[in-house]
Amino acid sequence: MVEIDIGTVASWDDLGWLRHGFSTRAGGISTAYSGLTLNLGWTREDDPAHVRQNRSAFVQAISLPGEPMQLVAIRQIHSGVVRVVGDEALQGTLETPEGKAVLEGDGLVTNVPGVLLAVGTADCVPVLVVDPVHRAVGAFHAGWRGTVAGIVEQGISLMQQQYKSQPREMVAVVGPSIGACCYAVGEEVREQFAARFHYAQDLFTTRPGTDGQAPQLYVDLWQANRHQLIDAGVAPERISMIGECTACSRTVTGERKYFSHRAEHGVAGRMLNAIGIAR
Ligand SMILES: [Zn+2]
Repeated sequence: MVEIDIGTVASWDDLGWLRHGFSTRAGGISTAYSGLTLNLGWTREDDPAHVRQNRSAFVQAISLPGEPMQLVAIRQIHSGVVRVVGDEALQGTLETPEGKAVLEGDGLVTNVPGVLLAVGTADCVPVLVVDPVHRAVGAFHAGWRGTVAGIVEQGISLMQQQYKSQPREMVAVVGPSIGACCYAVGEEVREQFAARFHYAQDLFTTRPGTDGQAPQLYVDLWQANRHQLIDAGVAPERISMIGECTACSRTVTGERKYFSHRAEHGVAGRMLNAIGIAR
């Protein structure tokens, strides 16, 4: 079997109590998407038994050996809603018997050791945040709608209320997701960003169309979420950018590295982007 390939932020290794990672396609047993893949989402096309086994392998790969963490995901709705996860999660109360998420929203925060928060993506931006001082973590799902809804800003504000977190002490990472190289959007997206963010004009570029097509607008959600972190008080030098586009990144052998909703025309698996405090 192919080994699981999980992306991490190297500088976070110093935080011995922190567990985190971004999954890729590699290492799973799903057969629903070209080759064997690590699909971690409960998608229509995939066999739930395969997804369950992939999720378990992913959790083991992130957890300390012999101490698997309790995975807590969320039913994502492209909102600005963030949920606090308490120690009831350790009893498995935040998932159905089939392993599906109970909570609805687009962000999760916790300070409970043993809980592994995760957001699912296949182009949308995963943002992970750590308060190393009070030992609290957050995972946020920011597509363009969630970004406009201020999901990251809401998450940091909730961590301040719940855990006395200070944004200037936090570290954050903007994970693998569709880049400005590939994320074509319509004018209505620019209008919504312009109505909300003073830096909106920096996020959009127009490039000439190919084959006589009209010029096309692209949005940079990586920078949008970096701006949002900075506006919330996180120091720019404490924000890491993975900088890999889910739609065009390839492995050394030329295979697709990530699932991409756009590049795979809506028939794609899901990655999980996870963070937690070791037990
Ligand atoms: Zn790209």
